Amino acid sequence: MRRLARAIDGLEALAVEKIADEQQADPFQVLIATLLSAQTKDAVTAAASERLFKVARTPEAMVVLTVQKTERLIYPVSFYRNKAVHIKRTCEQIVGRFGGRVPSTMEELLTLPGVGRKTANLVLILAHRSNSNICVDTHVHRIANRLGWTNTRTPDETEQALYAATHRRWWPIINLYLVTWGQNVCRPVYPLCGSCVIRDLCPRIGVEKVGKEK
Ligand code: SF4
Repeated sequence: MRRLARAIDGLEALAVEKIADEQQADPFQVLIATLLSAQTKDAVTAAASERLFKVARTPEAMVVLTVQKTERLIYPVSFYRNKAVHIKRTCEQIVGRFGGRVPSTMEELLTLPGVGRKTANLVLILAHRSNSNICVDTHVHRIANRLGWTNTRTPDETEQALYAATHRRWWPIINLYLVTWGQNVCRPVYPLCGSCVIRDLCPRIGVEKVGKEK
C-alpha cells in the first residue's frame, strides 16, 4: 500500500474523490456523484455532476426536478434513465424520511433507491469520515484477487474478506489506491505487470496475458 501511495501520486484523482474534496465532503453531493459514477468513465461522471449541481445542490432543490430534466442533465452517464429515477426517489426519501440529511449508517443508506454497499461505503468514508468501511468496486475486487489477498467471487464477498485480510488503517483508502491502480496499470485486460511497482509481491492469480509497455 505504501508503494502504491507513492506510485499513484500525480495520477488523475478519481471523480467522486475530487467532488468530495471540492465540496468539503458534502454528503448529498458525494452520494449523487457516486450514484452517477456506476459503470461510467470518470470524466463523464465529473461533467454530469457539475451540470446537475449547477441546477440543484441540495435534496430539496433536486427533488423538484422532473425525471426528464435530470435525464437531460446527466446524459450520457451509463443507465442515465434508471439513474434519473433513482435520484428522484432518493431525494424524496432524504427529504421525507431523513429531514433533508443523508443518513450516516449502512442500514439506512441501503434503504435508498439505487444505493448498494459500494455506494453506501463510499458515502460513509468520504462524507461521514468513517474509518470502519471498505468500498469495493470491480477494480478492488479484481486486484485483491489477483494479489491473493482474497479468493472470492463477488465484490460483497471481497469486502468481507478484506476486513480480515488487511490492516484497519488502510480500510478507508483501499478504494482510492486500487481503483487508481486498476484504471492505470492493473487493468481488467492486459494489465501492465512489467511496470507495476508491486510485481514482486504479486502472484498474478488469474492473469493470463499482460499488456505491452508503451
Ligand atoms: S503485478 Fe500485474 S496483476 Fe499484480 S498488481 Fe501489478 S499489474 Fe496487477
